[in-house]
Amino acid sequence: MVIKWLDRFFKRKQQKAAQQGGYKMTIAEAEKMLVMIQKTQETELSCDDVHELLDQYAEMKLRGEDASALLPLIRFHLDMCPDCREEYEALMRILRAQA
Ligand SMILES: [Zn+2]
Repeated sequence: MVIKWLDRFFKRKQQKAAQQGGYKMTIAEAEKMLVMIQKTQETELSCDDVHELLDQYAEMKLRGEDASALLPLIRFHLDMCPDCREEYEALMRILRAQA
């Protein structure tokens, strides 16, 4: 389950980098994306939404930015959803190992 997701995650990363030449999402853009999601789904994020934002969330954490304050819905979801939390922790381990 996690392996499958990580596989998708890295393919997506590679695609993005290829299309946009090492493009990195800014906080403003992440916020915009979150607002879009909030508009479509009243209060809670789905697991799919969290997967979309999880890499941004993890990278903000690693950069020492306050990702919990910025993306409270993700934080909330991670607290509530063991599956997503497991994926988040696996992602953090990988990002830390790369740093
Ligand atoms: Zn979830």
